[in-house]
Amino acid sequence: MRAICWHGPRDVRLDRVPDPTILDPGDAIVRVTATAICGSDLHVFDGFMPTMKTGDVLGHEAMGEVVEVGKAVTRLKKGDRVVVPFVIACGSCFFCKRGEHSGCNVSNPNARMAREIMGHSPSGLFGYSHMMGGFWGGQAEYLRVPFADVGPLKIESELTDEQVLFLSDIFPTGYFAADLCGIEPGDTVAVWGCGPVGQMTIRSAWMLGAGRVVAIDRVPERLRMAEAGRTEIINFEETPVYDQLMDLTRGRGPDRCVDAVGCEAHGLGSADAVIDKVKTAVLMGSDRAHVLREAIMCCRKFGTVSIPGVYVGAVDKLPMGPAMNKGLTFRMGQTPVQRYQQLLLAKIEAGEIDPSFVITHRLPLDQGPAAYRTFRDKQDGCIKVVLRP
Ligand code: NAD
Ligand code: ZN
Repeated sequence: MRAICWHGPRDVRLDRVPDPTILDPGDAIVRVTATAICGSDLHVFDGFMPTMKTGDVLGHEAMGEVVEVGKAVTRLKKGDRVVVPFVIACGSCFFCKRGEHSGCNVSNPNARMAREIMGHSPSGLFGYSHMMGGFWGGQAEYLRVPFADVGPLKIESELTDEQVLFLSDIFPTGYFAADLCGIEPGDTVAVWGCGPVGQMTIRSAWMLGAGRVVAIDRVPERLRMAEAGRTEIINFEETPVYDQLMDLTRGRGPDRCVDAVGCEAHGLGSADAVIDKVKTAVLMGSDRAHVLREAIMCCRKFGTVSIPGVYVGAVDKLPMGPAMNKGLTFRMGQTPVQRYQQLLLAKIEAGEIDPSFVITHRLPLDQGPAAYRTFRDKQDGCIKVVLRP
């Protein structure tokens, strides 16, 4: 089959690789009809994610048609149309039972590798390094889906691929980010990053009772899309973010702050950002955490900092003293997609939201490698790419 494969930092290619096969009785094989490129893929593309190997198939936002099921699979059959969550989960361990599927204790075959780095192993993830299980991803013609009775969400209505594809990741992720905030009615929620995850967080914050949403980025079309989601916007290239947020909240600070940027934040030459940039360039640091630091400084006392943005290693110069003395709460994680997918599918079916509004680029799979650059460099107004194998 054709698949988008990693060959080193900033080098992804369309390769021919063997078709996936059933390896475990609980597997299903899905013929991919639509797949997307995520901001998380950019961390892999840019070389921030350790334990990638040449030839690994990328991608974790995919949907399609079931073409084969293993002997133990009971919930799916050939011909079913499914959205595949990026999180691989067994559905029956301690964590899965608590709805903490991204902490699944069973699904990562390389758990030992992850434990050495993190203390414990999170769940397996599609297309996201060997430390996360070494599973081939969904930017391909076919995808092997382990624990097929647990993850894949069946789509039985007439909704289009574009309307439901983002149930694989970014819609649940935006919703999770807003949910972690613990929004109280009327709260001011500030969202750093107006990429696809930020956009979904903004819409979810309104669903969960926000009184006001402020969005921060510098890319004009992303800020415009945020504005269409009824936000006030701050262009961090034109306005000091802290000052502006204090002006908007009469000095109190936003009640809930969301870092929807993660480990590749831009810092416009601020001292912390320059040091991060140098350290990551010479492999002495793993993350550029300017946004996380800024969110801590801006958040109101006893407010919440929610972090859907992906971090990789140890973050330098984290203002822990300010966080402690201000009484902040930190919430974060890879999204337990399985916890939210049914709820959010119902919202799409009810017409409460159509997540396809973020799509700017629709391309064949073959153009995927070029699309990684377009998306990363925010060329051509690119906000979200959907690929059709
Ligand atoms: P993206 O790269 O399209 O968006 C990031 C945005 O942040 C860009 O628009 C960029 O201009 C903006 N940005 C950079 N520096 C900034 C700053 N200083 N202040 C404000 N904005 C700034 O990515 P995305 O697809 O929206 O994903 C966002 C993050 O969420 C990534 O880190 C991704 O890995 C992560 N993610 C996490 C999960 C999860 O399960 N937790 C799932 C999907 C994505
Ligand atoms: Zn993703």
